[in-house]
Amino acid sequence: MQKLDHYWMPYTDNPRFKAAPKMIVGAKDMYYRLADGSEVLDGLATLWCVNAGHCRPKIVEAIRKQAGELDFAASFSTGHPLAFAAAERVAALAPKGMDHVFFTNSGSEAVDTVMKMAVAYHRLRGEGARTRFIGREKAYHGVNIGGMSVSGVPVNRKAYGGILLGGTDHLRHTQDLGTRAFVRGCATTGVELADELEQRIVPLHDAGNIAAVIVEPVAGAGGVLVPPQGYLQRLRDICTKHGILLIFDEVICGFGRLGKPFASQYFGVTPDMITFAKGVTSGSVPLGGVIVKKEIYDTFMQSPGAGVQFFHGYTYSGHPLASAAAIATMDTYAEEDLFNRPNQLAQAFEDGIHSFKGAPHVIDCRNLGLIGAIELAPRPLNDGTGAVAAGARGFEVFEKCWAKGVFVRPVGDNVAFCPPLICEKQHLDRMFSTVAEVLGTVA
Ligand code: PLP
Repeated sequence: MQKLDHYWMPYTDNPRFKAAPKMIVGAKDMYYRLADGSEVLDGLATLWCVNAGHCRPKIVEAIRKQAGELDFAASFSTGHPLAFAAAERVAALAPKGMDHVFFTNSGSEAVDTVMKMAVAYHRLRGEGARTRFIGREKAYHGVNIGGMSVSGVPVNRKAYGGILLGGTDHLRHTQDLGTRAFVRGCATTGVELADELEQRIVPLHDAGNIAAVIVEPVAGAGGVLVPPQGYLQRLRDICTKHGILLIFDEVICGFGRLGKPFASQYFGVTPDMITFAKGVTSGSVPLGGVIVKKEIYDTFMQSPGAGVQFFHGYTYSGHPLASAAAIATMDTYAEEDLFNRPNQLAQAFEDGIHSFKGAPHVIDCRNLGLIGAIELAPRPLNDGTGAVAAGARGFEVFEKCWAKGVFVRPVGDNVAFCPPLICEKQHLDRMFSTVAEVLGTVA
């Protein structure tokens, strides 16, 4: 029996896992393989990452080959060709005019990087007072100090209140169970929520103190919240009017999730900066980054004084293995036309998610492209106080689905769906029918 004591698992109830481990020993395409040889259907691209499916041949081969050729070369004043090639490939997919790429190792690092870039950019332009960031309730921007500070999921913040950045504010989230539950795709109401930026936040803080607004185009880890029609464009317009940078955190939406390379193209709204990670290597090797508009890059390059233009970077920024994996992943996406899969499957996915309307405990169903969630009412504790066991139902669905060979992710009391883009209708059917079966057994 393998000892499990020493690994402190992230975002996990450690004792609970160690008492009944869900141990994955292999994976291929849509499935995990467990130690007993059984398979589990991956309904969440693992952690919203594995867009090309697991252990895809071209990606595996590229990593293998690269490991034997150049294991590591840093990007601090030396370089290697693959990092440049990977940046070129990411830039080629990005919205027009966004053509410079800075590499990190994760989404969290991408977010803290983009925040530092935004502040330094304003300073270089003589607007050094622009240091405040505006996030949004229910947002998830990773776990580093900057990203956590602009995030809006209370459980992720509450233990760290004293070390969160002071210079932040948050827009309201866009969910409204009263008027917008069970909406398919983007709601036709709610665009005015973006006006809070202009009506409350800009007057309160003064535009001259605000560096950037950061939002996920579709909020993922906060429960899959789809923006109302026109909402992102309105944020764009207000930011432009007040000289505030608009950052789209596309760590989940990027690399095909909505049927375009980035959500920016899906919504037809171009931000100033994009953060990405996860799908860039289909989860195979850690990699993240920031894409910026040419004028932002140029501002840094033209900054006075010789030497380093941006005092920031990670030892492993542009790591050869990650770069090789990214190039092979983008080849796979292109060769298999995978960014089109959400367009081909969107109707079946949407119908599947909305078939839960009326199912036990379900209070909302949401979807866009190949990402969606159902929301469950939290389980009442029935102790006379009206208190609830938040997340208990969501977790029970996850555990019971796993036992039936299907992985879906609990996000509090939301059950999230985000399958690899290689999925077929039969996989969706199995995923949804298993959840439906399980919901009937959840108290
Ligand atoms: N930003 C968004 C939108 C995310 O969904 C995540 C992770 O889920 C992150 C940032 C953090 O990425 P990582 O876990 O790679 O640090």
